[in-house]
Amino acid sequence: MTIEVQHIRKQFGQFTALDDVSLQFPDGQLTALLGPSGCGKTTLLRIIAGLEHPDSGAVLLDGEDASHRHVRERQVGFVFQHYALFKHMTVFENVAFGLRVKPRKDRPSEQQIRDKVRQLLELVQLDWIADRYPPQLSGGQRQRIALARALAVEPRVLLLDEPFGALDAKVRKELRRWLRRLHDDLHVTSIFVTHDQEEALEVADQVVLMNKGRIEQLGTPDAVYNHPASPFVYGFLGNVNLFHGRVQDGVLASGAVQFEVPGEAGARNGNGIGYVRPHDLDVERYIPGAGDTGGVVAKLRRAHAIGPLAQLDLERADNQQLIEAVMPNELFSRHGFKEGDTLVVKPRRMEVFVDAGDGI
Ligand code: ATP
Repeated sequence: MTIEVQHIRKQFGQFTALDDVSLQFPDGQLTALLGPSGCGKTTLLRIIAGLEHPDSGAVLLDGEDASHRHVRERQVGFVFQHYALFKHMTVFENVAFGLRVKPRKDRPSEQQIRDKVRQLLELVQLDWIADRYPPQLSGGQRQRIALARALAVEPRVLLLDEPFGALDAKVRKELRRWLRRLHDDLHVTSIFVTHDQEEALEVADQVVLMNKGRIEQLGTPDAVYNHPASPFVYGFLGNVNLFHGRVQDGVLASGAVQFEVPGEAGARNGNGIGYVRPHDLDVERYIPGAGDTGGVVAKLRRAHAIGPLAQLDLERADNQQLIEAVMPNELFSRHGFKEGDTLVVKPRRMEVFVDAGDGI
């Protein structure tokens, strides 16, 4: 099922939670709604579900205006952060619940319910705990059961609101991979709310980045990460170094350093900020008296070399700004850099926003 929202507005008193939001959720895809706390993600999800009504705008399901359809008629399944499993019912009965409360004419037979629940418990790989009660399960197991329960009624849309938010980092990581595999098997159009950028980039087909009730950018994980549309997106998705300065005739002058600014940004003159990801910085040894270094001279304050990557915390010589660089550990060892060494940092790739203000 395709979902489309058109010009959605929602106020809570004087506060604008959603400000003219329009977007599409393609059929069978997993879309992540990503953004800082309070940006309107949950409100948008609740409006799509029919749990909340917009002040204006429409929700279209498969092209038809569903704004006035009741929650039940929208055929959505939900999973929330705080698993609302029924404590007094077994896992089996929790999953069977949605089937048992169907109107008599649509209700499957007892045998069909049993088969369906077994099948779902196998799908979430928890058929071995069918007779347990929710308090006897781990957090991750409860979320998988919540998902099985949501899927039991064969929803045409699956809405997940921070489903793994309450779990520890390791379980969270496992579950998001598992959710992706499950989605690849079922192809239910799904919307996933998260404020965790890594989670959104890893799991989703499409990422919608929201800020203050508006959409900042919509695109594939690769597009939003590598081609951010605004300083906000750059800052929100991953670590970034900022080089403040002035852009004049295609050059960003930041302290003693000059960076060329190609493309559209270079054609505008004004205050500018260069954005550089830590892995887009080359780091070399500083050679005194060698003339223009073509980069930023910085002192290595701390190096953290565990696993395949070395993380370098540097302090810029001319203004004490902290710079973060990442390089393969093997290259770091080969250079033999030590804490306290003076190095030169050169951006391989930089995106400049002119008159960008603070951005983040
Ligand atoms: P989080 O990641 O913290 O859950 P969110 O992006 O999901 O945030 P929403 O829950 O959609 O944000 O809330 C958006 C804004 O609307 C918040 O500032 C919130 O305080 C406000 N809000 C949400 N529901 C209500 C309500 N029923 N009454 C008043 N204000 C509300």
